[in-house]
Amino acid sequence: MPHTLDPQLRRALAERVRYCHEMGIYDFYRREPRVSESVAVVESDDPSSTSPEQREEKQREEMAARKSAVAAKVADENILRVPTPHAEQKITDPIAALKLIREDLGDCTRCKLHKQGRKQIVFGVGNPRAELMFVGEGPGADEDTQGEPFVGRAGQLLNNMIKAMGIRREDVYIANVVKCRPPGNRTPERDECETCSPFLMRQIAVVKPKVVVALGAVASKSLLAMNASMSELRGRFYDFMPAGARSIDPNWQGTKLAVTYHPAYLLRDPRQKGEAWKDLQMVMKFLGLEPPKKPAE
Ligand code: SF4
Repeated sequence: MPHTLDPQLRRALAERVRYCHEMGIYDFYRREPRVSESVAVVESDDPSSTSPEQREEKQREEMAARKSAVAAKVADENILRVPTPHAEQKITDPIAALKLIREDLGDCTRCKLHKQGRKQIVFGVGNPRAELMFVGEGPGADEDTQGEPFVGRAGQLLNNMIKAMGIRREDVYIANVVKCRPPGNRTPERDECETCSPFLMRQIAVVKPKVVVALGAVASKSLLAMNASMSELRGRFYDFMPAGARSIDPNWQGTKLAVTYHPAYLLRDPRQKGEAWKDLQMVMKFLGLEPPKKPAE
């Protein structure tokens, strides 16, 4: 009898695989079926009751049946072995690729932030071929209203920081770890970051910036998967490859990641602006950007 998975189990497994893909997990491993065991069972049949010809014929039939069973089992279980690439990996145009990620996100209800007062999902904005990408924590009230990251007071400061680097906001790509506003602008919780960040990883893999600047502790710790203080994380580049996301360019080797303070924190403690400027100067040097004579306030 051909082996088939129970339909309910099959659906549960397929759902589990889909969930893993959304979390950026693609590779699954299992042992190959042991065909030799099936054959060994055939060879152990009692030979005394039939002629050699009948036994040979019977063995041929049973081996054929068992091979079919193994083949059916492998076909069934291929739903666990064949990774389903994200749709954007099949195209090279980053604009279309980002659009596909946005469509995949849909009217997302994957984490509890969807039911905690968000007005809309704030996906990301900017140049889909940007060399520099900024990643913040999550949308605030202004961002939630306008559907664009960094448009409030902190956004104004980020714009000034970008301008001070000698480039324009339109030149960079800007996104957040979570795409829905946490209620009362609270810090996004770990499970929310873990659920939403695979989409950010896919955005990074599509844009392929030369440098990602993580703004603040939440973005830095989420991207680097490190639990360290800002003072420990700042002041150096990290080699960064977005976890679980595959670039639309197979030759892409990842990006550099730098850490600096979140503009909202700099608004609360302007004394740290000089430190943030040092971080940005490090990025500018790497990207070959001309340092302006005077940093913008
Ligand atoms: S924060 Fe992200 S994962 Fe959570 S509901 Fe919004 S889009 Fe979905």
